[in-house]
Amino acid sequence: MREVTLSNGQKVNVDCLSCALTSGVVEPDGGVVVESDYFHAHQDVAYPIKGLIILASKRHIKCFDELTEEEKLDYMNVLTSIRKAQREVLGIQSVYYFYNEDTTHHFHTWMVPRYEWMYEFGRSVESVRPVLLHARNHLNTEENKKDVVEAIALLKTTLNQ
Ligand SMILES: [Zn+2]
Repeated sequence: MREVTLSNGQKVNVDCLSCALTSGVVEPDGGVVVESDYFHAHQDVAYPIKGLIILASKRHIKCFDELTEEEKLDYMNVLTSIRKAQREVLGIQSVYYFYNEDTTHHFHTWMVPRYEWMYEFGRSVESVRPVLLHARNHLNTEENKKDVVEAIALLKTTLNQ
């Protein structure tokens, strides 16, 4: 078991956070954004950034080459539909994608939207950690949390039509 701190400050003890989220043991803020046969999308639970979506597999796997043919197709379809919704309902022009196979959780892709304020931290992979920390330390305001939840609702509506 490891202790994980959620964006609302709550601490949870889980073996695998992705399993806990995709199975519903841990409820992410705003709930499920969209779910397919093999994947589960939710707002990131650690950093309060509008439209920061995590796309996690339902199976406890770590590596890309463990995906079945059906999962590969499903992954690409869900990922691109979320990307399209981010653009259409949140006006997100660019997204950074991260996926690491040595995660302590399981297979999940971070879809990190780029906002104007982030560019003061640079325009590359190195800027991401400071951006996330800035969000955690300075954006945990009631106003921003409200924005995050509204964005989740907009994405949900669009993706579940
Ligand atoms: Zn897992």
